[in-house]
Amino acid sequence: MDFRSDTVTRPTQAMRDAIANAPVGDDVYGDDPTVNELEAWAADTHGFEAALFTSSGTQANLLGLMAHCERGDEYLCGQQAHNYKYEAGGAAVLGSIQPQPVMNEPDGTLCFKKLEAVIKPEDFHFARTKLLSLENTINGKVLPLSYLAEAREFVNKHGLKLHLDGARVYNAAVALDVDIKEIAQHFDTMTICLSKGLSAPIGSLLLGDTVTINKARRIRKMLGGGMRQVGLLAAAGKLALTEQVAQLKVDHDNAQKLVHGLAKLPGFSVKPELVQTNIVFAKLDQSVDIDNIAAKLEKEGITITPSNPIRFVTHKDVSTDDIDVLLEKLAEKL
Ligand SMILES: *Cc1c(COP(=O)(O)O)cnc(C)c1O
Repeated sequence: MDFRSDTVTRPTQAMRDAIANAPVGDDVYGDDPTVNELEAWAADTHGFEAALFTSSGTQANLLGLMAHCERGDEYLCGQQAHNYKYEAGGAAVLGSIQPQPVMNEPDGTLCFKKLEAVIKPEDFHFARTKLLSLENTINGKVLPLSYLAEAREFVNKHGLKLHLDGARVYNAAVALDVDIKEIAQHFDTMTICLSKGLSAPIGSLLLGDTVTINKARRIRKMLGGGMRQVGLLAAAGKLALTEQVAQLKVDHDNAQKLVHGLAKLPGFSVKPELVQTNIVFAKLDQSVDIDNIAAKLEKEGITITPSNPIRFVTHKDVSTDDIDVLLEKLAEKL
C-alpha cells in the first residue's frame, strides 16, 4: 500500500490490453491514429478546439505558459502553484518567463485585489503581465465554480489569458458533481494529468484553441517531446478519461474515511472540512516520531512520506479495507 501519491497507480488490465492492440503510426508526422483520435475526442469532450498529448503534466504546463508568454513576459500564479514551485523553474529557465506569485488563500484561491496590485503597468521598466495561472484541485482543494467565473471576468478586464493547471481537474469535477466543461469553459488553456488518479502509465493533455495548440506543438518538438508510436500511451490515456473517472469518487470517500480515522489518533491534527478530494494532510505534534513510524510501516508493506504536515493520497490501488489497515497500524506504532 502506497499512500505517497496517486502517481503510483498502475495501469488497469483494460489499459494493458488497449496498449497491446492500439493502431499506431509516427506521431511527429501526425500519423498516429490513436493519438489523433484521443486529441480530437479530448478537445471536443472538454469544449476546446484542439488538444495535445504530452509526456508529463510538467511539460503540458510549460507548453501552456510558453504558448501564451514570450521572453520577458510574466505570469501570475499562486505561491503554492505546482508550475511555480515544483517544476524546476522551467518557465523561467526554458521560457524566459518571469513568474509573479501571490500567496494562496487558505481555500487555495488567489485574491483578485492582490493579483491586481502586482499587474505591471505598460512601461519598459517592467515585465509584461500576460497570463493568470490557476490550479484545480490545489493541494486537494476544489476552487468554487463562482470563483472561476470571477477569474474569467478578472482576466478579461485586464487583458490577460487564463491557464488552468488541471492535473487533478477531474477530482474537482467529481467533487462538485459537474460536467468537466463547467470548469473548463472559463480557461484559454487547461492541462489534465492522465497518470495520477486516472491511472494511465504516462501522459498528460494540453487543451486550447487551434492557434495556441499549434504553437505548443512546435515548442513540444523543441523540448524533445515529439514522440513516435505514442499511440500506445494515448490508448491508455483514453481509458483514463472514459473508464477511470468513476474511481475518483471512491478515492474521495476513502480520503474521508482516512481523515476521520486520523482525527482519533493522538498527536494527529486534521481539518476534515478541508478534505474535499483524495488528499489528506495532518499536522503532527512533537510526540509523533514520524520517521520511525514510516520505517516500521515500510517493513509491513505500507509506504508513507514522513513529513510534517504529513500528506496521504488515496487512489485506486489502495482499497477501503487498506485504509482500515493503515489506521490500525498507525495506532499500534504511536
Ligand atoms: C503532478 C502535478 C503536475 C505535474 O505532473 P507530472 O506529470 O508529474 O509532470 C502539475 N500540476 C499539479 C498540480 C500536479 O499535481
